[in-house]
Order: sequence, then structure tokens, then C-alpha cells
Amino acid sequence: MDNEKKAARRKRIRRALLLHASLFLFLAAYAVFLGCPLRRITGLSCPGCGMSRALLAAVRLDFKSAFSFHPLFPVAILTILYACHKRAWHLPGNRLSSLILTVSVVGLFAAVWIFRLSTGDPVVAPDFSSSLLFRLARRGSLPAFCLGLS
Ligand SMILES: [Zn+2]
Repeated sequence: MDNEKKAARRKRIRRALLLHASLFLFLAAYAVFLGCPLRRITGLSCPGCGMSRALLAAVRLDFKSAFSFHPLFPVAILTILYACHKRAWHLPGNRLSSLILTVSVVGLFAAVWIFRLSTGDPVVAPDFSSSLLFRLARRGSLPAFCLGLS
């Protein structure tokens, strides 16, 4: 391998490491500081709620807790790995297979979210009283009829 190819390879590896470190830091900051924006605003959990806690539990090898926080965490890991590394790892797939995968994963997350909401899963249990909209309505900053409180 000549020097140009070695330099290009080192540059690709540095970029990949930087990308992975940035993604990890973003997800860690998101999980620790922000939480779910939909839940924060409306009090209703999103289909991904519990995923950060599930991934952190999986990192600790506590898979029972991981599944209780979000049963689809393995699907999320595999989907993200496939989507991000398909080209680098020379994995099979074209636009149609990517579309089918995306629709399937989104549908699966929606179905599991509806099931968890309907069965009273505590991870996705609505908490309207601490939501931003509810607090604004209580302070009179938002008409109560917007939330159906009147
Ligand atoms: Zn959420």
C-alpha cells in the first residue's frame, strides 16, 4: 500500500471514530439532559421512550431491565448498525430493501408503542400534569380549552 492510500485510510478511520464519538456524546447528552421532547411538551410518551434507558441497561448487561424499558432495543441497535454501516461493511441492500426495512421498523415501533400504552406499561404511562402544555394552561398562559381542561 502506498503512502496516499495509507493516508486516505487513516483519514477515513479518523472520520469514522469522530462520527461514532459524536453520536455517542449526543445520545448521552440527550438521554441525561433533555429526555423525550414529546413527553416534556405533551406528557405523552413517544414510540422511542425508554430506549435510552434500555440501551444503558444493555451496556451494563442487564438485559431483563433493558427489555422492560424498551422491548425493541435489539431491533434499534441492528437497524442503526445496518443503516450507518451498510456501505462500509459491503452489506446487501438497495433503495427498495431500505424502504421496506424503514416502513417495517416504524410500523413495529408504532405497534409496540400502542400495545404498551394500552397495557399501562409504566415506562410510557402518560404524565400530563408535569407537561409543559399543562403547566402553561394552569398559569393561564394557554387557554384551558386547548387541553380540554374546561
Ligand atoms: Zn420519547
